Amino acid sequence: MARTTRPTRCLAIGLTVASLAVAAPALAQDMISGVPVIDKLDVNTLPRGKITQYWFKAAETNDAQWLYVPVIVARGAQDGKRLLLNSAIHGDELNGIRVVQKVMAGIDVSALKGTVIGIPGLNVSGNLHANRQMYLSTDGGSLVDLNRAMPGDEAKGDNGARFDGRVWNRLWAGNVDLVIDLHTQSTGTAYPLYVWADPRVDGVLKIADAINPDVIKYDPGEKGTVETEFDRIKIPAVTFEIGRAKLFQEDLIDRAVGGVGRAMVAFDMLPAPLAKPAELTKPFIGNETTSITASTGGFVELHVKLLDKVTKGQTLATQMNAFGAVVKEYTAPSDGLVLAIGDEPTREPGSLIVRLIHWNAADTCKQGC
Ligand SMILES: [Zn+2]
Repeated sequence: MARTTRPTRCLAIGLTVASLAVAAPALAQDMISGVPVIDKLDVNTLPRGKITQYWFKAAETNDAQWLYVPVIVARGAQDGKRLLLNSAIHGDELNGIRVVQKVMAGIDVSALKGTVIGIPGLNVSGNLHANRQMYLSTDGGSLVDLNRAMPGDEAKGDNGARFDGRVWNRLWAGNVDLVIDLHTQSTGTAYPLYVWADPRVDGVLKIADAINPDVIKYDPGEKGTVETEFDRIKIPAVTFEIGRAKLFQEDLIDRAVGGVGRAMVAFDMLPAPLAKPAELTKPFIGNETTSITASTGGFVELHVKLLDKVTKGQTLATQMNAFGAVVKEYTAPSDGLVLAIGDEPTREPGSLIVRLIHWNAADTCKQGC
């Protein structure tokens, strides 16, 4: 990425080099490749009826540069809800980036009520390394999951916490009424269209139902995620999983664009969906999942596919050693629907083979368990 020249910092170390004391000229507006750089976003001050693009300064790096997050803001001609459409906080989860690009390209701002903040790839470090996590250079290098560190702290902690803190405080706070956070399954595994939704928060099921994915899970959330941290402050948020990592899956992307558009219609932001209405089927609603994981290492042949209904005792997968001898058969511990598969054949112990979802009728599980 091309970067602008930073203003020279004045040095007060007793040098008598006059040129060092000369401040760089103040820049009216930093630009990268013609796109303005911002340090803070306030959507309420933007012109109505326009789409604007920015690079947001999200984190400083060890070589005195910055990580710049791409941001697209569509402010409608009239006021209404303000939707955050985030993607790729996990840097290898790419389908959502294309969803954001397509949604933002499809919005007619003259018909839009409210504002959409589209982020086509939040974790630019993860994108750079084709990795779920953000790279930290300190102590020889490590990785941090930005979707477990929200809302972060821009002045304390590791650079992941600071990245999240700047994003939360300067890009999102005060700008957002609804949230759809776009993900995929992790590399080597696959989901269908799948929404995590906390039914205890007003508005969450309205978003989930409008998206109309293959599966909705009622779920109490997880600390530090975008979804849960917004839900915690009563801004309804869902996590929307779209297929597999490291791919653009056109069919799922187009269905997801349709789902986001329907959510915008449901909240009176748009008069009609963005995409031609597809034939919609009722989603499977579950509140509990069971993961079948590898108990040994080896090569796995799956006998089920996504969204298959399985019964207790049904064989799900067979694992072989390097010579092709069977070392393990995996069976379903209960009835359920196949929510996720590990379809990268090499599986180490502990890695996902199949995840089932079902409905647990216990009172303690009604809101998700
Ligand atoms: Zn993710």
